[in-house]
Amino acid sequence: MSHPDRRDRLRTVLRAAGLDALLVTDLLDVRYLTGFTGSNAAAVIAAEPAGDLLCTDGRYRIQAGEQCPDLEIVIDRPSAPAAAGRVPAGATLGYDSAVLTVDGLAAVRDATPGRRLRRAPGLVGGLRAVKDAAEVDAVGRACALADTALRDLVEAGGLAPGRTEREVALDLEDRMRRLGATGPSFETILAAGANSAVPHHRPTDTPLRRGDLVKIDFGATLDGYHSDTTRTFCLGTAADWQRELHALVDAAAAAGRAALADGVAVTAADAAARDVITDAGRGADFPHGLGHGIGLAVHEAPWLTWTGNGTVAAGQLVTVEPGVYLDGRGGVRIEDVLHVVAGGPAVALTALPRELLEV
Ligand code: ZN
Ligand code: ZN
Repeated sequence: MSHPDRRDRLRTVLRAAGLDALLVTDLLDVRYLTGFTGSNAAAVIAAEPAGDLLCTDGRYRIQAGEQCPDLEIVIDRPSAPAAAGRVPAGATLGYDSAVLTVDGLAAVRDATPGRRLRRAPGLVGGLRAVKDAAEVDAVGRACALADTALRDLVEAGGLAPGRTEREVALDLEDRMRRLGATGPSFETILAAGANSAVPHHRPTDTPLRRGDLVKIDFGATLDGYHSDTTRTFCLGTAADWQRELHALVDAAAAAGRAALADGVAVTAADAAARDVITDAGRGADFPHGLGHGIGLAVHEAPWLTWTGNGTVAAGQLVTVEPGVYLDGRGGVRIEDVLHVVAGGPAVALTALPRELLEV
């Protein structure tokens, strides 16, 4: 789907919401709607096609012209009030109240006398949650690249006792870059031994030791799109408790993946995996949601949690990532990216084996 097509989809949403235009200030929303990738911009998308514009500053004059040849470009700053000030008098202008700061809103208000401002959070985010074919392809390529990097790391003996968490994380990130990634999707979580019980552990100088569980949560960025995978290894032969823990999370992940279908409540998808863990008496050791949408942001709508709203929908890309963490001993998480499709099971874009790998 082209950027003009995406803006046309948004116009339908704007008309239904009674808005004459939307002020878009989230940079990923701007990128999604216009193709512009600079670090400062705001866009106005009008309910009638004539009023669209992109506002950025002088650093990006040439880039904006190249990336958005079909849009009116305004060079001015600060960009949000400058863009909003070009909306015709009398118009009702929506803004994303989940993004615009209090100070930003004050500046927009000063720049828009005679217009009505209205909160309109998440309108573009709602569109972004359902991916088009090019987006599925981009995330799929990022997932495949990340898969290759981890497979290469393991085959090269990179998960060796004595290497530190930081060394292994850097090695993995370096491999992703050499394979063509712009960079990691987020700071790699590489957690060995007792550290693997910390869901979002940051790599330290702790050396890997024989007998450790090693949890690796990582992703690649490619063409602006992200991947997000977690695998948990055992250095050497796994102890019974490690094998049982891994089998429990594996069963929960399978239940979560199987629950993904068009129209299923996000809370029901979360519950499908959570029930497996709760039934095993480990509910308190799974302290986070089942997963999240992924695309231009590594974490975006929809949110698959027990407190979430709405349903899973065909076209979404979501992670399924249950984990069980035993304080002071170790933890296991298994995470995949899945494409929700109509009338069938969700398709995994991550292809690494899920069984406990002893290396
Ligand atoms: Zn992850
Ligand atoms: Zn994730």
